[in-house]
Amino acid sequence: MEKTKKILLTEKEIPTHWYNIQADMPNPTLPPLNPGTRQPVGPADLAPLFPMELIKQEVSKERWIEIPEEVRDVYRMWRPSPLYRAYNLEKLLDTPAKIYFKYEGVSPAGSHKPNTAVPQAYYNKMEGVKKITTETGAGQWGSALSFACQLFGIELEVYMVKISYEQKPYRKLMMNTWGASVFASPTDKTESGRKVLAEDPESPGSLGIAISEAVERAAKDENIKYSLGSVLNHVLMHQTVIGLEAIKQFEKTDDFPDVVIGCFGGGSNFAGISFPFLRLNFQEGKNVRCIAAEPSSCPKLTKGEFRYDFGDSVGLTPLLPMYTLGHTFVPAPIHAGGLRYHGAGVLVSQLLKDKFIEAQALHQLECFDAGVKFARSEGIIPAPESTHAIACAVKEALKAREEGSPKTILFNLSGHGYFDMSAYEAYFSGKLVEHRLTEEELYGDLKKLNTPVIA
Ligand SMILES: *Cc1c(COP(=O)(O)O)cnc(C)c1O
Repeated sequence: MEKTKKILLTEKEIPTHWYNIQADMPNPTLPPLNPGTRQPVGPADLAPLFPMELIKQEVSKERWIEIPEEVRDVYRMWRPSPLYRAYNLEKLLDTPAKIYFKYEGVSPAGSHKPNTAVPQAYYNKMEGVKKITTETGAGQWGSALSFACQLFGIELEVYMVKISYEQKPYRKLMMNTWGASVFASPTDKTESGRKVLAEDPESPGSLGIAISEAVERAAKDENIKYSLGSVLNHVLMHQTVIGLEAIKQFEKTDDFPDVVIGCFGGGSNFAGISFPFLRLNFQEGKNVRCIAAEPSSCPKLTKGEFRYDFGDSVGLTPLLPMYTLGHTFVPAPIHAGGLRYHGAGVLVSQLLKDKFIEAQALHQLECFDAGVKFARSEGIIPAPESTHAIACAVKEALKAREEGSPKTILFNLSGHGYFDMSAYEAYFSGKLVEHRLTEEELYGDLKKLNTPVIA
């Protein structure tokens, strides 16, 4: 029998619409709250930060939202992305399960993040915005938005977590190559940054602090908007091109996934691959299991609390109803920088609360172990973040072996790891450690929260 390894679509098959899961959720999400008044946030509260079209998408209940032709035209550079069958990995694991992965590392920035960076830059451009600020941790989001802003002629200022700025010079240079200005956060350019530096001049920074700086810059200058690479509803929706393509690709095979897996930072690539399959669960009676794979050192989905909390560490953003470890939680410096975030997207949080999706926490060492197995069998070196999805898929495949079940597993390979080789070096030299959180580390920040609890 002839085997198909790579399932491709033509450019004409790039989706024409994003899927908005808000149209189909059995329980709608709770509203974000203004941190001062604690009243629901309206479009006017968000207008200083985001273009109106993105604010509309944030609250829209329309099931399908058209992808502008200009955005599809940019998507054509790397979309549709390939779906692969991982025959070699299946063989290595000696499993009856079929393993497929969707590969998002083919974009110019090397991850799924341009899927939302491009439309965000486009809508800003359409509304006359000349300059945007954002934050970045390990540099994946900053580089994706630098690429997108360059295409649409928008100036970009990136606040990059200082420790990454110093340890990962190549991501910073990618941003510079695409024309962005990059600052090591905390900076002395903002009140938030100066406040942190006054308390600790040697602060290594954090994603939460960098968000505070980028938001403050945009809030104080009417000519600057702000952009976020995960968590928000419109960001998750832009990523649904991943799952929509995957469904079309499975139509070209005799298979259909029983399990869909994505790694989890704020929820965007997980939502991207899983929401279109959840639509089939909600509307067509399918029963696809969707699993979010998070690091056990930052386990907001499996150990966090569902309540209102801030998106940043200073407390400038609206209060969001989400699973959180507390906005002051500072995750251990694991190598999967993109997963080091205290909270989770509101849509994904509500779906987890209502048990429409599952979550699993994975240890850093088992993730690198799976990542190296994958690189050696399938050739692609995965981003440290993506190894969490691989490790989860490996577990499912081994369980299938025990059960003798020929189930079909799909995971999202959210990015390649070619700028993360120092993480692999640490793994090979035995320097990579397991971070076991004490009860105090895990729940200390939650206990201090005085944000609204959800009954
Ligand atoms: C940013 C990033 C993630 C985590 O972010 P999500 O919004 O949860 O998808 C995962 N993988 C890669 C490669 C990333 O760059």
